[in-house]
Amino acid sequence: MSSQTDQKAVTILGIPFINCTRSDFETTIINRITQRQNTFVVTANPEIVMYAHAHPDYAALIQSADYVVADGIGIVIGARLLKTPIKERITGYDLFEDLLDWGSQHQKSAYFVGAKPQVIQKLRDVVKKRYPGLVISGTHDGYFTDETEIIKDIKRTDPNMVFVATGYPKQEQFIQRHRTATSGLWMGIGGSFDVLTGTVKRAPATWQQLHLEWLYRVIKEPTRISRLMVLPKYLWQIVRQKYTKKR
Ligand code: UDP
Repeated sequence: MSSQTDQKAVTILGIPFINCTRSDFETTIINRITQRQNTFVVTANPEIVMYAHAHPDYAALIQSADYVVADGIGIVIGARLLKTPIKERITGYDLFEDLLDWGSQHQKSAYFVGAKPQVIQKLRDVVKKRYPGLVISGTHDGYFTDETEIIKDIKRTDPNMVFVATGYPKQEQFIQRHRTATSGLWMGIGGSFDVLTGTVKRAPATWQQLHLEWLYRVIKEPTRISRLMVLPKYLWQIVRQKYTKKR
């Protein structure tokens, strides 16, 4: 991981997580955007870590990112169990909102790729209204077969930030293939366009404070329950990492 070596990282099952506060991380990212440094941020939860654990190519891809942030209480708990605590959980959605806000205040530009056609259409209106100073370089839904035109458009508009919300592993693979198209920030942010447009509701603040967002999502979308089955396997692997380290 190129830039993470600047600041201490916490390694969980081979994935190095940045260990700083959200505010410090945002300062770092904003400086890099301002200096037009190409930056790839992965927002990883236990599902992503376990997917990487099972797919070496994807693990290598994540390790090639500039920063991996702890998006998910499972990562924070894992770090604590390994006795290498992480300072703060940094969610992709919070970063997304804060960067849009900063971009609006400083007349920066952003490109949005992901979500269903009706969602990305709504996103344009929501962003225009809520972040009026931000330049929308372009948008594209996440259900494409040919990415050539999207990349051409990104190259032509040269945005400061590219947000890719097609879910893992697609979004990270897309970023790895195309991150040199512009020298800005590239970040994969899962279902964030659905949340910003109100298509999917984020958990109320109290649930978030209690770190129960994952439970709220399962209650709202019961089909997601199968995705939680990865958690016991993840915790088991953490225990194994701890034991292996001690020996
Ligand atoms: N998505 C997409 N293209 C695809 C598959 C999914 O753009 O081929 C979008 C989907 O519409 C949703 C997001 O990717 O907006 C994934 O959301 P999810 O909540 O599953 O993300 P995660 O839990 O991984 O953050």
